[in-house]
Amino acid sequence: MKDNIEKIITQLLESIGEDPSRPGIVETPKRIEKMYQEIFSSINQENFTDFKLFDNDAVNENQDIIVTDIPFYSMCEHHMLPFFGVAHVAYIPNDKIIGLSKIPRLVDFVTKKLTLQEKVTRDIALQLNKILHPKGVAVQTEARHMCIEMRGIKKTNSTTKVKYYDGIYQENNHMLDNFISTING
Ligand SMILES: [Zn+2]
Repeated sequence: MKDNIEKIITQLLESIGEDPSRPGIVETPKRIEKMYQEIFSSINQENFTDFKLFDNDAVNENQDIIVTDIPFYSMCEHHMLPFFGVAHVAYIPNDKIIGLSKIPRLVDFVTKKLTLQEKVTRDIALQLNKILHPKGVAVQTEARHMCIEMRGIKKTNSTTKVKYYDGIYQENNHMLDNFISTING
């Protein structure tokens, strides 16, 4: 990330009619530069690498692993405003499984950039496919979008759901129904 963000935010403050030297916001450009390093830390990072795999000697044939209600926070690429919510992630392992705590880390990884809920949902599945080559992946995200709620016709508390199903979840209604009833249960 370039180190001129502070300068650019100062210009932006001027452009929207603010006085960048007034006491309340004089530190704001510096704060935003620091914050962007955190919330955009995945920009230009193609692959999630912070994981360990284990041999799958615990999960039976076509049994899935489901992690529900993983919170996430991201920034919409159309408006640079937050969208946030939860992700539900399931996979049917082949020969490897991933440490359970790494799935929330993976969700973090795909959200720390400018993106869209549709891409977040797909990227979780694509990264899991790359890492684990599972027999199936199912992801559902539920999010609120500040670019919808803060602008225009306000429909607060409306939640957008996006789904991505791959492999066995596409072919087997029983597996899919089980995933859906688990995340709704
Ligand atoms: Zn937006």
